[in-house]
Amino acid sequence: MGKAKKTPKFAVMKKIVTHRALKQHKQEVLNPNKKDLSKLKLPRNVPQVSSALYFKHNTALGPPYRVLVDTNFINFSIQNKLDLETGMMNCLYAKCTPCITDCVMAELEKLGQKYRVALRIAKDPRFERLPCTHKGTYADDCLVDRVTQHKCYIVATCDRDLKRRIRKIPGVPIMYITQHKYSIERLPEATIGGGMIKSLCYGPFHSIVPSNFLLLFNVIVYFVIVHFVQLQESNAKVFNCASLQFARKIC
Ligand SMILES: [Zn+2]
Repeated sequence: MGKAKKTPKFAVMKKIVTHRALKQHKQEVLNPNKKDLSKLKLPRNVPQVSSALYFKHNTALGPPYRVLVDTNFINFSIQNKLDLETGMMNCLYAKCTPCITDCVMAELEKLGQKYRVALRIAKDPRFERLPCTHKGTYADDCLVDRVTQHKCYIVATCDRDLKRRIRKIPGVPIMYITQHKYSIERLPEATIGGGMIKSLCYGPFHSIVPSNFLLLFNVIVYFVIVHFVQLQESNAKVFNCASLQFARKIC
C-alpha cells in the first residue's frame, strides 16, 4: 500500500507574461483617465415629453374623442345595459369613437362562448379597429404602450391595476363605469355642468361667501333687490332716491 504514483506531465509550458501584454494591461485596466466606452453606449434615461402636453394639460385631446376600450369595459357595459357609443356621448357631451385594438379583440376571442355578445359588440362597424404590430397579445401592455406614444386617446377600463398604470402617464383621461353610467377622470374640459354653475355664481358677493352657498345666496340677493326695486318704484312719485338707481345698476 502507498500513494498512487502521479504520472509526470509532459509538454506543459510555463506561461510567460510578455512586455506587450503588460503594457496593454496598464493602458486598459489601470489607467484612471481612460474613457468608459460601455457607459457612453448606454441609453440616457431621460423620458421624452410629448409635444401635445402643455404641462399636464393635453392639447391633443378634443372632440371627436377617441376612446380605447378595454375587454372588461365591454363586459361591464353589457352587464349595465349600456350602449358604448351613446353612453360615451352622454358622458362627454361630444362625439366619441370607441377604438378596439387587435389585442383586445384577441382577448375577447380567447374568453370563449360566454363572451360572444361582447365579441359581437366589438365587431360593430361603427367602432374603429386599431391594428397591432407588437409582440404578444396582452391588452393591458398594448393599451399602456399606445397611450404613452400617442396622447390622442382616452382609455376606457374598469380594471383597477390598469387604471393605476394609466394614472402614471400624464395627459391621459380614464373612462370608467359608476352608478350604471360612464364617468370620466382627469379631463378638465368635461366638468359636467360646471361651466354653467360658474357663470351663475359670478354675482356681486362671490368673493365674500364660500362657494357652496354661492348660487343660493346670489339667487336670494337677486330676489331681495328685485323686491326692493318694486317697492321703490311704487313710491317713486314721492322720492326718486339714489338707492333706487343703485339697485337698478346691480340688477
Ligand atoms: Zn396590441
